[in-house]
Amino acid sequence: MNKALSLLVRLQEHIHQSGGTTIRRALSPAVLRLRAQIPQEYLCRFDRLTRQGRLAVAPVSESGACGACHLLLPAGDIWMLREMSSLLATCPHCGCYVYFKPRMEKAAKSRTAAARSLETEELSRLAAAVRHGRAARQWARA
Ligand SMILES: [Zn+2]
Repeated sequence: MNKALSLLVRLQEHIHQSGGTTIRRALSPAVLRLRAQIPQEYLCRFDRLTRQGRLAVAPVSESGACGACHLLLPAGDIWMLREMSSLLATCPHCGCYVYFKPRMEKAAKSRTAAARSLETEELSRLAAAVRHGRAARQWARA
């Protein structure tokens, strides 16, 4: 996930936990620390949406709907979000920052697949070595 985006997600969590008022938001040292790390241009949109009582950052559902306005994102945007997790994208309908939640089970599955492909590679290397050995023995016998 984009670093600024993950900070925005944390900032939003803090604000929602503290009741979402502007005064309390400004007083919280945790919020101030977070805000100091986020580029101003991102904070502008974030603050505007938060002031309006809307979600400023929202996850995209598996079906490709924005988590804030529930409208479907264009297929191209969904593809870009999936392919480039470092991208800081916004919903074209409501303007909030959108992201795909990292899927733990999917990552675990791909790790298993990687391990499996390594095993296959190892096996085929072994098989090649065995074939090579057999060929060498046959050559030696001839
Ligand atoms: Zn939206």
